[in-house]
Amino acid sequence: MDEETTAATVLAGRVKAEISRVAARGLQPGLHIVATPIGNLGDVTLRALCVLAAADAVYCEDTRHSRSLMTHFGLDAKLAAYHEHNAERERPRIIERLDAGQKIALISDAGTPLISDPGYKLVRDVVAAGHAVYALPGPCAAIAALTVAGLPTDSFMFAGFLPAKSGQRRTRLKELAAIPATLVFYEAPTRAAEALADMAAVLGDRQCALTRELTKLHEDVRRGSLLELANRIAGTTLRGEVAIVVAPPSEQEVTDDVINAALALALESASTRDAVRLVAERLGAAKTRVYDLAMSLKRGGAS
Ligand code: SAM
Repeated sequence: MDEETTAATVLAGRVKAEISRVAARGLQPGLHIVATPIGNLGDVTLRALCVLAAADAVYCEDTRHSRSLMTHFGLDAKLAAYHEHNAERERPRIIERLDAGQKIALISDAGTPLISDPGYKLVRDVVAAGHAVYALPGPCAAIAALTVAGLPTDSFMFAGFLPAKSGQRRTRLKELAAIPATLVFYEAPTRAAEALADMAAVLGDRQCALTRELTKLHEDVRRGSLLELANRIAGTTLRGEVAIVVAPPSEQEVTDDVINAALALALESASTRDAVRLVAERLGAAKTRVYDLAMSLKRGGAS
């Protein structure tokens, strides 16, 4: 056996032992929220496989789609549909199954359930009914995109899909413009160019990462300013799945109103000195500017 084969054999043995260890612990009754790969099947977690194998039912958006994942891993999971068209009807049934002590798993077509996918109302009702909900974390396109973007990660906001129409999209972007955090969007490939152009118009020409087909064969990450990227892809036909990461507003874009609002909040629990430091750091604003606004606030009015 060559070195590579030996290493693979050792790894397979360890993985098998880990699966046996997790399986031996058994599955708790309750709802298990299971993340599945966003493209690369190698990203499935060992716990996910154990839960999918042991659950009394695995609820998914599309049973045919999820069957191929189960088949790939040789799992004979009991699939049932939970999607936006049958959710109202299915929720009470799922809760009845949990009342009977069953172990139920929820997956989506890809990635983490509830993240731009069904599940929030189910979790809400399951919690209200007094049952346990367990997280099985794993792949999520928003987090994957954020980790490769090269943009600040200390504070970020997942903003989901923007509206398809430009007018509504710009209105939504205006609501997001002052948020002092990196923004993460999902977008249809066919709308990516116009979405980037609208972002540039409303948010300013911030730095951005256009990520496509993450973890898959044709994985692609393009970095640049919003306008550069909008121009680069204008007129081309993007394919595949797209997530867009946009830098927080720069100091020039942080208005006095935004700083005053942050200061008012910070001053509720911190000294003026600490509030100024915190707000300046969080918004990337100059300390002297934040200090002047804090003084003006303390004098009883915005400057
Ligand atoms: N729940 C999923 C998750 O955890 O990422 C997201 C589901 S949402 C319906 C699907 C969207 O996620 C796609 O339209 C795309 O914007 C983004 N997405 C999914 N897979 C992706 C990938 N491999 N690369 C980039 N974006 C992806």
